Amino acid sequence: MSFKKDFYFCYECKNHVENLEDLLFVEADTSRSFCSEKCIEAYFTPITNFYESIEKKLRKKYAVETEECLEFLSDVTIMEKSMTAPDEIWHYENSINENIYTFINKVSIKEERPFYVIILCTIYDTYPGYVLLSTITESKFLMEEFRIGEEVNLAEHFSDDQEVEGIDISTDEVESIEQKKSEILASHIELHSPADIPVESYELYDEYIEATMDSPDEIFKNKDKAGDTIYTYIKAFDKDGVSFFYFVLCMRIDSASEDAQELIIPILNFPTVDGDLYKSYHQGEQVSGALKN
Ligand SMILES: [Zn+2]
Repeated sequence: MSFKKDFYFCYECKNHVENLEDLLFVEADTSRSFCSEKCIEAYFTPITNFYESIEKKLRKKYAVETEECLEFLSDVTIMEKSMTAPDEIWHYENSINENIYTFINKVSIKEERPFYVIILCTIYDTYPGYVLLSTITESKFLMEEFRIGEEVNLAEHFSDDQEVEGIDISTDEVESIEQKKSEILASHIELHSPADIPVESYELYDEYIEATMDSPDEIFKNKDKAGDTIYTYIKAFDKDGVSFFYFVLCMRIDSASEDAQELIIPILNFPTVDGDLYKSYHQGEQVSGALKN
């Protein structure tokens, strides 16, 4: 016996593992490794429980505590496709360089309302290593809570080339945008009338974002309590004989990057048929001329 050799220990049970090849990893670029599947489960179960408690609170916040679409969690084909060919991957690195990823896949099945499959996980190579949380929702707002950190460029992620493209928005800015989104949504929900178009149906109107921003009837500029500039784009539309107003609230970010471009980022968009709600947002300093997106 000698100390002059490599020793490996299971991260969970601390048992000595003789050979490097016998260690099990669930993520790349880390020493965290295990002697068995059983130890992987034992290690992650409390962490999974923690994330599930956050999901539970968010489901309560958006009033989607139970959803029929959750039954698709047991659909292997849908879950597998979401792990291997998602629409989006988000990456968050915490202050001690631990990485967590979210795979998001929008699924539309005939006769079903579209829903989002969400997988919070570690990744090994390019695919989920250990699934910390998987859930399904029709709520765009709940889905957006899982857009953590920075969006991963899928073409780069699934190619062998590991080069990372320069990103204009810093993590701090992404966080402040996310923070702003949830604040504005919370105050919006307070103003929202039960007789108005339901919040759950907002995404059915997403097609109106572009026209509203490209050729708004009016734009208002407001400073919020935090001193951020919020632009409100308003345009009237008619759908199947029903007139409504479409609103897009945007935040201006002064990018720190070299070209010092100004970014206008949508933070809340919704249709309304409610005159009171219209009045609540139809205020501020009127801006003429189109802003660059
Ligand atoms: Zn072990």
